[in-house]
Amino acid sequence: MKQLFFDLDHTLWDFEQNAFDCIVEIFDLLNLHQKGINPVEFYLAFSVINRNLWHELEQNLISHEKIRNERFKLSFAQTGLEISSEQSIKCNQLFLDLLPSKKKLIDGCYQILENLSATYRLHIISNGYLDIQNAKLEAGGILHFFDKIITNDTAGMRKPDPGIFRYALNLTDCLPQNGIMIGDSYHADILGAHGAGMQAIHFSHEPAIETIPNYLHINRLTDIKKHL
Ligand SMILES: [Mg+2]
Repeated sequence: MKQLFFDLDHTLWDFEQNAFDCIVEIFDLLNLHQKGINPVEFYLAFSVINRNLWHELEQNLISHEKIRNERFKLSFAQTGLEISSEQSIKCNQLFLDLLPSKKKLIDGCYQILENLSATYRLHIISNGYLDIQNAKLEAGGILHFFDKIITNDTAGMRKPDPGIFRYALNLTDCLPQNGIMIGDSYHADILGAHGAGMQAIHFSHEPAIETIPNYLHINRLTDIKKHL
């Protein structure tokens, strides 16, 4: 019996849209419009900087704390506004307070989960924190589809470490050949799952360019079924 393991951010839960909505609220709360920058311009910088920092974290080059402390300072600097470390941490705290209550899902997410849950056991493997990821799943109305929620803090490891995938297989009593990981990060989700002997489906809007063996690619969530 196959079991499906999903990444959450950027795969099921629409991180980009939800994060942008938070940035707009933060601009309103802190009166940042008066500083001559607009949230759209800021978000373009923030999105790239945040993604790059998370990629560095996956490679163990930086700590989680560095992301929390610096992503706002770096993003404001890029849009021409110098802020203090204290202000950066305050913005980040507001962001973390607002973000988990946002509910926008990736297109087709609810329908495909509802459909798949009739046949398969579904789980989450995420590099986020359990309380935050649980809140996002609940806000998005999809928490009930999942059996186990495996996160960085509960597993004590993070993707792409094959150890977190082995931990998940063990917790769900699933053989590697019966486990399929679905995620948007080639490095964290796909190579990590392969390292633990699982199949993996790369969900990405980019064309499929990887040439590794057993590489599976979709650009719409509803296409998952083609690979099951
Ligand atoms: Mg992701």
